[in-house]
Amino acid sequence: MGYAKIRDVRRIAHHCYPENQMKGEDKTRKQLLEELVVLRERVTEFEKSELESKRAEQKLRETRDYAESIVDTVREPLVVLDADLYVISANRSFYETFKVKPGETVGQLLYDLGNREWNIPKLRELLEEILPRHTTFDNFEVEHEFKTIGRRVMHLNARRVYRKTNETHSILLAIEDMTERKRAEKEIYDLAYYDGVTRLPNRQLFREHLSRALAYAKRHKRLLAVLFLDLDHFKHINDTLGHHVGDLLLRCVADRLKKILRKSDLIARHEADDSISYVSRFGGDEFVILLTDLKQPHDAANVAQRGLCEISKAFVLEKREIFVSSSIGISLYPSDGKDINTLIKNADTAMYHAKNQGRNNFQFYADYMNTDISRRLTLDSALRKALEHAELTLHYQPQIDINSDKIIGTEALIRWRHPELGAVSPTEFIPLAEEAGLIEPISEWVLRTACSQNLSWQAAGFPPMRVAVNFSNLSFKQRRIVKTISRVLRDIGMAPQLLEIELTEGTLVRNEKETIRALEQLKELGICVAIDDFGTGHFSLYHLRHYPLDAIKIDRCFIKDIGAAQDSTAITTAIIAMARGLQLRVIAEGVETQQQLTFLRLQGCDEVQGYLFSRPVPSNDIIQLLSTGIT
Ligand code: C2E
Ligand code: MG
Ligand code: MG
Repeated sequence: MGYAKIRDVRRIAHHCYPENQMKGEDKTRKQLLEELVVLRERVTEFEKSELESKRAEQKLRETRDYAESIVDTVREPLVVLDADLYVISANRSFYETFKVKPGETVGQLLYDLGNREWNIPKLRELLEEILPRHTTFDNFEVEHEFKTIGRRVMHLNARRVYRKTNETHSILLAIEDMTERKRAEKEIYDLAYYDGVTRLPNRQLFREHLSRALAYAKRHKRLLAVLFLDLDHFKHINDTLGHHVGDLLLRCVADRLKKILRKSDLIARHEADDSISYVSRFGGDEFVILLTDLKQPHDAANVAQRGLCEISKAFVLEKREIFVSSSIGISLYPSDGKDINTLIKNADTAMYHAKNQGRNNFQFYADYMNTDISRRLTLDSALRKALEHAELTLHYQPQIDINSDKIIGTEALIRWRHPELGAVSPTEFIPLAEEAGLIEPISEWVLRTACSQNLSWQAAGFPPMRVAVNFSNLSFKQRRIVKTISRVLRDIGMAPQLLEIELTEGTLVRNEKETIRALEQLKELGICVAIDDFGTGHFSLYHLRHYPLDAIKIDRCFIKDIGAAQDSTAITTAIIAMARGLQLRVIAEGVETQQQLTFLRLQGCDEVQGYLFSRPVPSNDIIQLLSTGIT
């Protein structure tokens, strides 16, 4: 019976049956009174229960207020969502932290509290995919953008509350605002891994990156390069203009280097982070660049050349124009090293060689650069005396026409016999001579001696033949080279057509324009030019046609493996075909077996040179060979 109905019964009962009207109608009245008593009891009971429920309601309200006040004292923002992810309530901390009002929060979807576009994909994953599958989860990191306070990083901890029917009643989300902590962590990370002056990755981060790039290169059989760049005379700028100008300069250099990498279209880029090129500062004025996924070694040379060029342009610092140059050393994976330390060390070594070569240039690493320091010092001082003491001599190796088996020329190869150290290989002392600044007089001596010798064979009655002289990178860099060569030829009186100069690919890669100009002048004089050790350097075939060349000498390493290694055989075949296409003479060096000779003959090679015919021998032995012929 409802409360209103009982109240009505009580009123009616009082009205119809007042106690003073009960006399005379005892039975009926008694019955009625009994009913009334029952009714009254019920009313009393109801009144009691009504009072109790009011009390309960009051208690409930008090409990709820108490609970809310406790929840409000929790420092962490809390929010309660219903099963459909609408906000039911939130605590004070939530409102304060995210600067939102209850009126604009309750009844809303949580991800509507900010930039919907930005938030939905991240929060939706959590709220609609992860949450339904789990009763609880902790520390789910999500970045959320609020209209009020912008982007925040949060950790969410969720508890699901169930009804008795096992349906979700609500979801309690405790939110930890991690933004400040993340910012602090990033600051610590930046301090540990980035250089404070240029904001470039530091040595530590570079090593980590290189390690990942190496793993990638090993897995995918890719080529990578480490470029070690050092500014020339940076100390001078620091000393004269002050450290703050020095720092400004470092920052500008960093920007230019980054620009080169961004523009570098030579480097194939992959989606994977592990294959991205990278510039870092190692400290002082040293920058290290990682080039990943190179198509060919020559690409590293192009990037280095661009680096030199960019840095040599004027820097305007504090309204003052400053000019600097740099020196770059390059090491390649896998040829110059297979681990981080070796690659960095070898690039550094090559950089020192670039400095010794007169700065403002780059050098690829080569094994000889690691010659033990004390031996180098000994050789260095000994080399200075070698010319004066006539310790240098020339040997000649015959060059044979492959079809007639006749000697048609010789290659002059330098020999040095040191009184105590014995024979020192030219592969060891020529680079030292370059560094010591002795290459110019040595080259001139070789040229003069070889040409005179060649003429003396002619004078002895043998037909005129060609003599080939090797020129190193550096001696070719000297502007005077063309003048020196023509002067020597004039002095000796040898026809320029009888001289062939041998240059390596490295010489051609450097200072392209100047080299081409010098070669053109030599060509006008009638001198022949050959590329030595072809196939081993960093020369791009694409550029080959721009150079005025006469001959290509296929490197010994390919000839050695003819018949044994498929790739060497294929490379030799291809070089011969290409040279013929470009109308260049082809000379094979290091021919040691009849089998190699037969193969080369079949492929259409023009000339051969190697132990099969003769080792390099002193001049007198050449006379012998010319008299008897090659047998
Ligand atoms: P290169 O110009 O490629 O000379 C060929 C080298 O291969 C010579 O070594 C020669 O002795 C060697 N060789 C020739 N035929 C064979 C063969 O059948 N088997 C083997 N295993 N080796 C063979 P060498 O004389 O020790 O010269 C080494 C390098 O030193 C030369 O390589 C050249 O780059 C440089 N060089 C030699 N003389 C001079 C020079 O007067 N000036 C300059 N700048 N460099 C020179
Ligand atoms: Mg040679
Ligand atoms: Mg050679």
